[in-house]
Amino acid sequence: MIHTRNIQKFYQRGEHVRYALQNINIDINEGEFVVVRGPSASGKTTLLGLLGLVDAPSGGEIYFKGTEVAHISDSERDKIRREHIAFVFENFHLIEDLTISENIELPLQYLPFKHKQKRKIVDDLMERFRLTHLKRQFPCRLGDLTQQKVALARACSNSPDIIFADEPCGRLSSGECEEFMELFRQINEEGTAIVMATHSEDNSRHGQRIIQMFDGHVVSHSTEGR
Ligand code: ADP
Ligand code: MG
Repeated sequence: MIHTRNIQKFYQRGEHVRYALQNINIDINEGEFVVVRGPSASGKTTLLGLLGLVDAPSGGEIYFKGTEVAHISDSERDKIRREHIAFVFENFHLIEDLTISENIELPLQYLPFKHKQKRKIVDDLMERFRLTHLKRQFPCRLGDLTQQKVALARACSNSPDIIFADEPCGRLSSGECEEFMELFRQINEEGTAIVMATHSEDNSRHGQRIIQMFDGHVVSHSTEGR
């Protein structure tokens, strides 16, 4: 589904150039659960931003479902992202002055759904994640695990082909993380690919495959984990 060829990303500040990623060649297949593991500043977040079409690489090529997406316009990239891709973040990134149900509906606003269809998608997701009783609450009233479940429901609303999760358990206790990863596992079993960045050895076991990063390089691919 996603292929990269020699992608690199650097940031320039005056004379100083910092490479966040170098020579990245990876393939993400439909329906896979891949863990991107590495210490802080190894390039995990940068890689997810490139694979998830949030940002363009400084060099190299990225193919998404056969289309080269590294050199297309921002608006073309946005369109593909809205239709096929979703994100979950460490800090949830919920909109504080929208209710739970409005947050979950957000990704649907640019997609050609009728009002009634949107309501049904949101209602079904709230039921699935046991959030229905909270639909009119605001995020700040909820615990961390519940906020992350809302973020996951929002990520599912556009029926993405792939969900990128950047340290999704960073704010959760180990028990909460297990519960959250069980939801991820179910979503993955239904066919949605997941790419999860983590620095945690323990969390990596949820993936079918591990891409190990260090200082902006992929240092190994493996099939350990579940
Ligand atoms: P990780 O998610 O593994 O902690 P990041 O992808 O956030 O790593 O960062 C990789 C490297 O790129 C780090 O050295 C970081 O400082 C640098 N970096 C990331 N984003 C920027 C930016 N917007 N400007 C300058 N340097 C950046
Ligand atoms: Mg990061």
